[in-house]
Amino acid sequence: MQYTEIMVRYGELSTKGKNRRNFIDRLGFNVRSAMHDFPKLVVKAHRDRMHIYLNGEDSDKVIERLKQVFGIQNFSPSVRVERDVEAVKEKAVEMINEKFFDGMTFKVNTRRSDHHFVYDTNELNEMIGGYVLQNVPGLKVKMKNPDITLRVEVRCDGIYLSHEKIQGAGGLPVGTAGRAMLMLSGGIDSPVAGYLAMKRGVDIEMVHFFSPPYTSEQALNKAKELTAKLTPYVGRIQFIEVPFTEIQETVKHDVPSGYLMTIQRRFMLRLTEALAKKRGGLAIFNGEALGQVASQTLESMAAINDVTTMPVLRPVVSMDKNEIIKIAQKIDTFDLSIMPFEDCCTVFAPPAPKTKPKIDRARYYESRLDVDGLIQRALDGVKVTNIQIGDSFLNDSEQAFSELL
Ligand code: ATP
Ligand code: MG
Repeated sequence: MQYTEIMVRYGELSTKGKNRRNFIDRLGFNVRSAMHDFPKLVVKAHRDRMHIYLNGEDSDKVIERLKQVFGIQNFSPSVRVERDVEAVKEKAVEMINEKFFDGMTFKVNTRRSDHHFVYDTNELNEMIGGYVLQNVPGLKVKMKNPDITLRVEVRCDGIYLSHEKIQGAGGLPVGTAGRAMLMLSGGIDSPVAGYLAMKRGVDIEMVHFFSPPYTSEQALNKAKELTAKLTPYVGRIQFIEVPFTEIQETVKHDVPSGYLMTIQRRFMLRLTEALAKKRGGLAIFNGEALGQVASQTLESMAAINDVTTMPVLRPVVSMDKNEIIKIAQKIDTFDLSIMPFEDCCTVFAPPAPKTKPKIDRARYYESRLDVDGLIQRALDGVKVTNIQIGDSFLNDSEQAFSELL
């Protein structure tokens, strides 16, 4: 069925009292940007509900997109007809017929926001219900838990019919919890961490470290493609690529190999903090999980975290790998994440990283480096890309894949 409108019910935000207006405005903005390639669509975010007028845009595609926007409890696609009972009857029969199966039960539930309409809700229920029963053989009425409830809403500009409530993504509208940086590698965990941050309303910007020529253009594109996978939840995401080659070469040259990883991570964190401060970010998210690898012991986290006082948030910290993978599959980042492109950390991974690095040791080795100069030059080389829904960076992924094999 080609619907004309989608009625959206808000999620948790209904309980947020005086911030309500901000939440609704932000959700409206997010829905508009998530639908930026449907130019005829009009979004009206009211206090209690949002109405999306399709104006001929493909409702199936819009519905799929809408399922991913955080801050929506559920929504109902509906069809508008003229304020004419005959038109409502015909459309009601068409709707029920489309879903009909043997033994199906239904009821009509009418609401009027326009109380001047000639018939009241009981009269409308009876007229429409009776007509549908006559014209759909085999259909039965059931007041309690019918298979289909046909909702009819009489408004001043027309009468709206709908029969399903589609579950929304829940969570809070992205942006209502402020902005933060996500350290995005090409791995499985960090995209999941990003998804979870967005679900709680955080507007994330991706920070990705790459080390040409040790890492390829394809590895960079993979990180961008992962970012593109997360855009449907918000519409667009800024992708910040940070050149990391000079730092990695210097660290490798000047730091004992047991501390390579710790010091590299300290640089990553300093750079991410600097970018956050410059761009209005309030916190740093990453994909660290306890116990997965050498860098993910509490000692290691402490030694790395030593360089910043900004909150470093780790949404997947206590999840098992399998739990993380489940979410990665749900958000469709898993297959991309496991593509075998080299990451700057794997290229420069020491053979035996310290699993219990000492903070003073890390500080001491760094005191021999030109930390400020290295940071400044990396920041000077930063490039920002605005990534939108539908953008693609690995068009030749299959080809690239086969070349790797
Ligand atoms: P992931 O699956 O996210 O890569 P991981 O289990 O492989 O995580 P590490 O490689 O130790 O763990 O990385 C820990 C975290 O450090 C990552 O989740 C990510 O947030 C950050 N990180 C690692 N490499 C990069 C990179 N090249 N650019 C940005 N952040 C990175
Ligand atoms: Mg990794």
